[in-house]
Amino acid sequence: MSRKNRPYDFYDTTSSVCSTCLRQIEAKILFKDGRVFMEKWCPAHGTERVLMSEDVDYYRLGREVYVKRPEMPENFSTKMAFGCPYDCGLCPDHMQHSCLTVLEITDHCNLRCPVCYAGSGPERQTHKPLAVVERMLDAVVRNEGEPDVLQISGGEPTLHPEFFEILDAARARPIRHLMINTNGIRLAQEPDFAARLAAYGKGIEIYLQFDSLRSEVHQALRGADLTRIRREALEACNRHGISVTLVMTLKRGLNDDEIGDVIRFGLTQLCVRGVTLQPIQDAGRNEDFDAAANSLTVSGIRRRIAEQSGLFTLEDVVPVPCNPDTLAMAYALRLGDSVTPLTRHLGPEVLLAGPSNTIVFERDPALKAQLFKLFSTNHSPESQANCLSDLLCCLPKIDAPALSYENVFRVLIVQFMDARNLDIRALKKSCIHMVQPDGRMIPFEAWNLFYRDERSRLLESIRDEIRAETQARLRFHPRLPERAAAQTSNDTIVPTVAAAASHLPAE
Ligand code: SF4
Ligand code: SF4
Repeated sequence: MSRKNRPYDFYDTTSSVCSTCLRQIEAKILFKDGRVFMEKWCPAHGTERVLMSEDVDYYRLGREVYVKRPEMPENFSTKMAFGCPYDCGLCPDHMQHSCLTVLEITDHCNLRCPVCYAGSGPERQTHKPLAVVERMLDAVVRNEGEPDVLQISGGEPTLHPEFFEILDAARARPIRHLMINTNGIRLAQEPDFAARLAAYGKGIEIYLQFDSLRSEVHQALRGADLTRIRREALEACNRHGISVTLVMTLKRGLNDDEIGDVIRFGLTQLCVRGVTLQPIQDAGRNEDFDAAANSLTVSGIRRRIAEQSGLFTLEDVVPVPCNPDTLAMAYALRLGDSVTPLTRHLGPEVLLAGPSNTIVFERDPALKAQLFKLFSTNHSPESQANCLSDLLCCLPKIDAPALSYENVFRVLIVQFMDARNLDIRALKKSCIHMVQPDGRMIPFEAWNLFYRDERSRLLESIRDEIRAETQARLRFHPRLPERAAAQTSNDTIVPTVAAAASHLPAE
């Protein structure tokens, strides 16, 4: 009898959820024809095979090389009771602190985009009161000490009637960097608005929805032609010296051919510090989305950057060590009209040696020093020996004694997993979290899949099932006292059914 091999390599197992019922299930990671797939099986809904990466070598870089010891938050807000992803958060089983916290202050919006994970629109009118927002800000500070980045979001946050009071409240706390996630309409239409924002100085950045340079793409994603709005918002930011990140929501077949155009456009705008590329997460309102035709992977976007930008190569786009499955970055140094990709010169040893886990590396003083040291003219002999011999053979000598934030241009790929491609191993490393009025910090992906609005009803029914199953198990296998107390903490890793049961909320 001849033995047959399977037509793929079996790399690993992980857990995911069934994309139909959202129940946690086991998943296999398979390598086939240079690509990476997740195959999962639900007893109720059968098998799914999902493309996770188009590049096995890049995937393995994130799994095996760009791996950094997890950094903890200062505080966990929930207990382990039902298992991941039903205990957010952050529960003690989470493996990363909040690099970026999102604070949603309103459901209201002056657009009703066909693609909106928050499901916002003009008809929704709930604004969080200032006192609630202050409590949420306190929770962020309690969890992080000095939070790296806080993003004020919505809905359209600039429409909150107490928007500037909220900015004041955020600035009064030790938050390093403040972003405002906006569609740009107020910036474009109200000259006083931009002037008032500019008065806050350098610590504020606009995270500007910027999907395309083409009208038809705006129509498809936003339901309106926003070309003029985008132009006028950027003019206002240039006029007032307000930093901007352009945020491109990517839909394969619609605007994934424009990645290079938007990066090059961003480089022409003095106020633009970078471009963030976000493939659509299939959550919330997501009209006309066909996962098979419209999904994009991190490796697919990385390849498009290299093919289209005329600036970055594949080597310039590397995994971000705090969550390498879902985040990738490319940095360039911008000096006048000259733009020099940097990341290819920073080996993983440099990125992994930094003291803190962050996705805004120019805010990490140690890494910033390392990065800028490479390009300053007064090198020590050691630094010349270590890094500049390579650099100077391919770069013009750069005279940049006083580099600053304005000289760094950052391209980030930020993928938010959805029910199809959710890898719970990677979810545990999520570092982009949504702060809640009760102080919980919920990973962005988990929030949109399990916790937001009416999704929480399904979550409650899943928890009911787990509660009943756990009680049934305890009837046959009573709790062992020595295992009942432990939760995953600094160095104690004993998550058990008994331990979990000890924290089951009362029925
Ligand atoms: S995603 Fe993180 S916070 Fe949420 S349940 Fe899993 S480990 Fe806990
Ligand atoms: S995506 Fe942004 S601009 Fe569009 S409806 Fe949602 S909150 Fe408003």
